[in-house]
Amino acid sequence: MDSKNKKAYQAYTLRNFNDLDEIRHLSEEDLEAVEVVGQVLPFKTNNYAAHELIDWDNVSSDAMFTLHFPRRDMLTPEQYETVKSLLFEFKKSEDPSVRQKLDDAVEQIRMSLNPHSSGQSHNMPVLDGVKLTGLQHKYRETVLFFPGPGQTCHAYCSFCFRWPQFSKMAGEDKFSIRENYEMYMDYIKSKPDVTDVLFTGGDPMTMNTNVFSKYVDRLLEEDMKQIKTIRIGTKSLAHWPYRFTTDNDADGMIQLFEKIVAAEKHLAVMAHFNHPKEMETPAVKEAIHRILCTNAQIRTQSPVLNHINNDPALWARMWRRQADLGCIPYYMFVARDTGAKHYFEVPLERAQQVFREAYQSVSGICRTVRGPSMSDHAGKIQILGTSEVYGEKIFVLRFLQGRNPNWVAKPFFAKYDPEATWFDQLKPAFGEKEFFFESEIEDYLNP
Ligand SMILES: *Cc1c(COP(=O)(O)O)cnc(C)c1O
Ligand code: SF4
Repeated sequence: MDSKNKKAYQAYTLRNFNDLDEIRHLSEEDLEAVEVVGQVLPFKTNNYAAHELIDWDNVSSDAMFTLHFPRRDMLTPEQYETVKSLLFEFKKSEDPSVRQKLDDAVEQIRMSLNPHSSGQSHNMPVLDGVKLTGLQHKYRETVLFFPGPGQTCHAYCSFCFRWPQFSKMAGEDKFSIRENYEMYMDYIKSKPDVTDVLFTGGDPMTMNTNVFSKYVDRLLEEDMKQIKTIRIGTKSLAHWPYRFTTDNDADGMIQLFEKIVAAEKHLAVMAHFNHPKEMETPAVKEAIHRILCTNAQIRTQSPVLNHINNDPALWARMWRRQADLGCIPYYMFVARDTGAKHYFEVPLERAQQVFREAYQSVSGICRTVRGPSMSDHAGKIQILGTSEVYGEKIFVLRFLQGRNPNWVAKPFFAKYDPEATWFDQLKPAFGEKEFFFESEIEDYLNP
């Protein structure tokens, strides 16, 4: 193990990416695209991705480059031209009124990219008339925690649905826990069905161990016995595995994991991996090994993304590799309807085909995975497949999670639509007026 070879984290953004030696592999057009698209969508990568993931000899088709860098086609040609001409005019003139025009154009494009796709504000609970903004409670057993200091990532994925937060759109920083931590505990105690806390972000593993342990330690206290599972949603294994190996407080984080397990909580690292390449480096292997040695579990998840992983053989390889390293494949998602969606989206039918063909080609050990799943307002909706009933072609669907737990695991049917890429484009099958849960959903969204 080369664990004493410390790697210092270095971020690259619009401001300094020209410092990367490898950048000379980019064509003029690629370089321009980074700058132009980077005005609209957040861009941050780091030295691990640059040196160990990206294949600089194949930039034009490399999935790791696409994941980390803005590309021209992530905007429509009109959007691209608008930003490009204002940006270049500003660079020449440095005229503040042009800057203002550029900012306005960028804001307008961002607003057209469906920035609030997930309806997060519907999931924020209220306690004694106070809105608990750093918490989401959508499914009975599980609350999501958004710790304030963890609302960033070691690198930004170009498809990320939290892009409005990272690009600092107005009002986006309100979804986090900064103070009154006790109120969050009081809320949990008022809901005895809550057994799982899922730390998310951003990436909670960007917090240093001392900061993170303040949140965790409270959950290990005697009065929080109802919490059985602590989950950590993170992409750090793919973006910065040194978090668990050579970073200054890596050992501290490993010890904190051991402490959680010793307190008889189930600890699950919900690891985000999009591509088998992210599982190949010595650093990620060592990080996974160290985490598993604490008796934590690693469960993996990813969306299906055009230009990144739209290929059943790739998914099969990824799941097998995860199983080889001791990880448990968990969810395949459909990419959300936001940001550069037109670039990354695949039709629902294709997502199901990718899932089915990959699932068919792996052993039962990898078939712990479920999907493809859409996180809609109502719940996590899985596409089970297509079928035909009395001459009508349909999608067979079911809830993996529902706002109402009674909806879960009951098959239901939508009219087949080869172009649909999200649930809101689907119509009920067999001439029904609405899906079985639709009359109830209003009560959940507008109580
Ligand atoms: C996915 C998700 C969860 C966790 O669901 P599990 O099926 O238990 O993994 C919890 N809350 C929200 C909002 C989610 O999207
Ligand atoms: S790690 Fe997750 S939250 Fe962070 S940029 Fe990627 S998808 Fe978004």
